[in-house]
Amino acid sequence: MDYQKLIEEIHAEVEQMNLHGQVATYIPELAKMDLHKFGISLITTQGEEFKVGHTNDKFSIQSISKVFTLAMVFPKEKDNLWKRVGVEPSGNAFNSLAQLEYENGVPRNPLINAGALVVTDLLRSKEPDALGAILGFINRLAGTNQIIPNKDIAQSELNHSSRNKALAHFMKSFGNITSPVNELIETYCYQCAIEMTASELAQAFLLFANHGINSLTEQQLLTLSQTKRINAIMQTCGFYDEAGEFAFKVGLPGKSGVGGGIAAVLPNQFSVVVWSPGLNAKGNSLKGMKALELLTTKLGHSVF
Ligand code: GLU
Repeated sequence: MDYQKLIEEIHAEVEQMNLHGQVATYIPELAKMDLHKFGISLITTQGEEFKVGHTNDKFSIQSISKVFTLAMVFPKEKDNLWKRVGVEPSGNAFNSLAQLEYENGVPRNPLINAGALVVTDLLRSKEPDALGAILGFINRLAGTNQIIPNKDIAQSELNHSSRNKALAHFMKSFGNITSPVNELIETYCYQCAIEMTASELAQAFLLFANHGINSLTEQQLLTLSQTKRINAIMQTCGFYDEAGEFAFKVGLPGKSGVGGGIAAVLPNQFSVVVWSPGLNAKGNSLKGMKALELLTTKLGHSVF
């Protein structure tokens, strides 16, 4: 398969479609992103990278960080994790408070904000330097030591974190958060503000295409079953309230973030990251969704 030719073709095709979308504005620092950026990086499980467009620009991974924290916490907590957070799609916006009330402070899944806050809370309870541990984990997966959070973005999100604080306080009232809320939100905002290039993110995401093995160090970080479960959660919950649409059109487990990134995997084959900051109404990268839809359609391969 000539992946290079394929992704160049897709990049050109999507560029001609006049898709723009809107940058996220609820975190003011994110509103400064350039709508014209568009890059695709695909890395095979053999370690070969194919890329086109803006694959060396750093962007904040935002909610994609939730998959990494889940991958850190799951092997330690094992099935105890599922007492604190569920595995069902929410069908609601990523930062919705509504469901939490009638489900007694147990978030639907680890990829919505409430669920990710529980995961980060669990990490904080075991790691005195939780942010340092997250950065260490991601840097090792990406094979670098250059990945850090963007402080301006983290600060901007912290200044506009009333809703995330409300989620954390609400869950704390049910005993499902143990950290002091301000400290938890600070760790969470910094994890979301971690900046990576599309290439770095595709390299790090290879973990989920590669049976839970860090292909650079050959370390088995997740069991086969844990990898399967994380991929299943990405498939059903990775795209806000558009996870059904993503499965329908693309058919790959993946996760999007409001920084415009989408990371996805075809298990045993490749990881792929598309970055373009223009989002659709559901918060997913417009060009990213289209590019991945074309990728699986042209390849004739998806998890289905
Ligand atoms: N840091 C963002 C928030 O909590 C992440 C949102 C996202 O990418 O979905 O609002």
